[in-house]
Amino acid sequence: MKRKKTRAIKVGGVPIGGGAPIVVQSMLKTNPENFSETLIQTRELKKAGCELVRIALPQEETCKIIPFLKKEVDVPIIGDIHFNHKIALKAMEFGIDGIRINPGTINNLRKVKEIAVMARETKTPVRLGMNIGSIEKRVMKNYSKPGADAMVESALYHIALFEDVGWTELKVSLKASDIQETITAYRKFSKRSDYPLHVGITEAGPVFSGAIKSAIGIGILLNEGIGDTIRVSLTGNPVFEVIAGYHILRDLGLRKRGINIISCPTCGRTKVNLADIVEEFEKDVNEFDQYLDVAIMGCEVNGPGEAREADIGLAFGATSAMLFKKGTVIKSGIPKEMAKNILKEEIFNMISK
Ligand code: SF4
Repeated sequence: MKRKKTRAIKVGGVPIGGGAPIVVQSMLKTNPENFSETLIQTRELKKAGCELVRIALPQEETCKIIPFLKKEVDVPIIGDIHFNHKIALKAMEFGIDGIRINPGTINNLRKVKEIAVMARETKTPVRLGMNIGSIEKRVMKNYSKPGADAMVESALYHIALFEDVGWTELKVSLKASDIQETITAYRKFSKRSDYPLHVGITEAGPVFSGAIKSAIGIGILLNEGIGDTIRVSLTGNPVFEVIAGYHILRDLGLRKRGINIISCPTCGRTKVNLADIVEEFEKDVNEFDQYLDVAIMGCEVNGPGEAREADIGLAFGATSAMLFKKGTVIKSGIPKEMAKNILKEEIFNMISK
């Protein structure tokens, strides 16, 4: 798939845009005043493969956590700032790797300009995070209701403001909870600007339905070559956001990371609780970085054949299981209860070679 060429920027050393691999990011959900819980969650996100971690900074005092996190975890931290521009200034003073502001909630050009000057002085990349619910009044005077065009106009206006002060390490997001509106906004912006794009569907919902909604919205845009970094927003553990993000990239063939499980839906031939086995296996291998296609099939008759393309796999029979590689059986008669662990051992061997 041909990706749209965007400018290259870096956030805490991570390249975004300019043809770099699409970056997966997420956001902390702990109270930023609780250092230990926030640190634990930051480490969990990093372990899951999260490449940029965003933290809400509701007050100036909250910025104290920035040097602490930066010392403890080696992952770029982005400060999420609304309403009070002084928090953005403070976060940059404390050495944050990037900031995300919503100019609509700051709603004052002089204050946004102060942020731009400080960003230039501290060389801090900035995401201009436009949101359909908070487009500034000045822009809304030209529109009957908030929508894609108003978000694009607001984004372009604020980009020009940053360019005026000489700071162009910017990326942009244009979010609405309605998928079509979001897609329209990104398409329109992408035609008019080459700044890198952070893509996501805001307030997508709970883990299962939110992941589907995000996969549709983010997937359609990525498939058109639009998007340089993604965040799947879910109501739940942010580790699921990272997992969902990699699934989207992997299924579109944009990035290959981790174990791709191919499992059959089961049918009347299945003589094992395949759903539990697959669920446990998925948990066990969630943090593997290396890409492998692993099949777990419910029967010996069709299993290896149906999953011929898998690097390795298991097929369960009435009393035992067989291990196969690329459709060829390499071990049979494996007691069912040992099968999952034998598969894992074999994967370890393949990865460590
Ligand atoms: S692999 Fe076997 S058990 Fe699974 S759906 Fe196909 S026929 Fe049924």
